Amino acid sequence: MTKAIVVLADSKQAKKLGASVKRASADIDKSVDLSFAHDDYDYITVIADKPKDKHSARELGGNMFKKYKDKASSLELDDALGFGNDILEGADLAGYTFEKYKSNPDTAKLTSVTVGDKDIASVSQSISESIRFARDLVSEPGNVIYPATYAARLQRILTPLGITVKVYHQAQLEEMGLNLLLSVGQGSEKDSYVVVMEWMNGKEGEKPVALVGKGVTFDTGGISLKPGRGMGDMKYDMGGSAATVGAMHAIGLQKLKRNVVGIVGLVENMPDGKAIKPGDVVTSLSGQTVENLNTDAEGRLVLADILTFVQNEYNPSTVINLATLTGAIVATLGKQMAGLFTNSTDLEKLILQAGKGAGEGFFRMPMGPNWAKMIDSPIADMQNIGGPYGGSTTAAEFLYKFVDNHRAWAHLDIAGMAWEDKGKPTTPKGAVGFGVRTLFNFVNQDGTIDLKTDGDMDY
Ligand SMILES: [Zn+2]
Repeated sequence: MTKAIVVLADSKQAKKLGASVKRASADIDKSVDLSFAHDDYDYITVIADKPKDKHSARELGGNMFKKYKDKASSLELDDALGFGNDILEGADLAGYTFEKYKSNPDTAKLTSVTVGDKDIASVSQSISESIRFARDLVSEPGNVIYPATYAARLQRILTPLGITVKVYHQAQLEEMGLNLLLSVGQGSEKDSYVVVMEWMNGKEGEKPVALVGKGVTFDTGGISLKPGRGMGDMKYDMGGSAATVGAMHAIGLQKLKRNVVGIVGLVENMPDGKAIKPGDVVTSLSGQTVENLNTDAEGRLVLADILTFVQNEYNPSTVINLATLTGAIVATLGKQMAGLFTNSTDLEKLILQAGKGAGEGFFRMPMGPNWAKMIDSPIADMQNIGGPYGGSTTAAEFLYKFVDNHRAWAHLDIAGMAWEDKGKPTTPKGAVGFGVRTLFNFVNQDGTIDLKTDGDMDY
């Protein structure tokens, strides 16, 4: 057994390790790895300062896990670092792998991680479990997770948590008139679904918060076919829905005393003889008509109908939708922050605060009537694209046409954030589960209902 230990400089545990650790503790400003033979440990890392918040504690746990995952079989972290649960969550998230389809999975040598008397298994009931659930959904290929199997998995995983899961099948959606959503899936052999998740554990009669997610389980672009290169990435075009269901999972697991409804639209966008064509006009659930000028701008169509549905059925006080919606937001913000579009400065503040605690960044993008005009259609109430410029804002304006202006609403464009290319302290390469923790924090804070909307957004 190879053992590693991480201690806070000058702590009780550091002192116990002996004189050389004490000497190292005296003059470090960041962290230092000691290389000497010690009776009890093969590796010793001394950390100068305690983490300053939960997020930096998770990053510390993630970094230490990565440092020792192939070197040591056990890792102990000093109780004096504080934030024990967060350190373990970070280590747990850093250890996430998705190798179920590999004959020879790459397993880490490191199996035991402890902080004081808590071990990594104790975080299985933490939000990291909900993030793992979201990552699994995003990582699964399109032939495994498609609308029907996705809906079944939600029913199987979320129902035991006490969440009421309602599955609407394509035939019901046709009857109800979610034609925009259905138009996206009409070129696919796979039927489209909508899944609603109710968690009404708050004050009786209090309006719920609605979380709304785009779940395009695979996006070829449809007849406006995407280029072949990198198209395999489009299995993660359901990252918004994964954030929504991951947050619902966390809310149910932690038994939050809140009223929350989650809704996801699940479709596959394929080219086919039956597929929707550029130029086609479709009537939405709201009654507004849409001219489809690019079948690859499909996420907004899915969201528009479920936004109408959730407002009609649940009269939510606050609505937050998430989607890997536009390449334009990645061009603007890179892979550093998600775009935040809203009609409420109060809601913006609460989302930024929730994101800060989660270590997830959001940047408020502009909206306004001049951008809204860019999607005027000559033959219908609107078109689904607005030309080459301002693409993430015109997408937001499209969604806003399906939202009651006096209801606090935010759209989070997470196209740049759902998939990690390089690897970060708590996020290995691959699916991030971006948004789960922000949404959970958001719902968990006070004052999320009856938010004021901005006067200049009333158009
Ligand atoms: Zn698309």
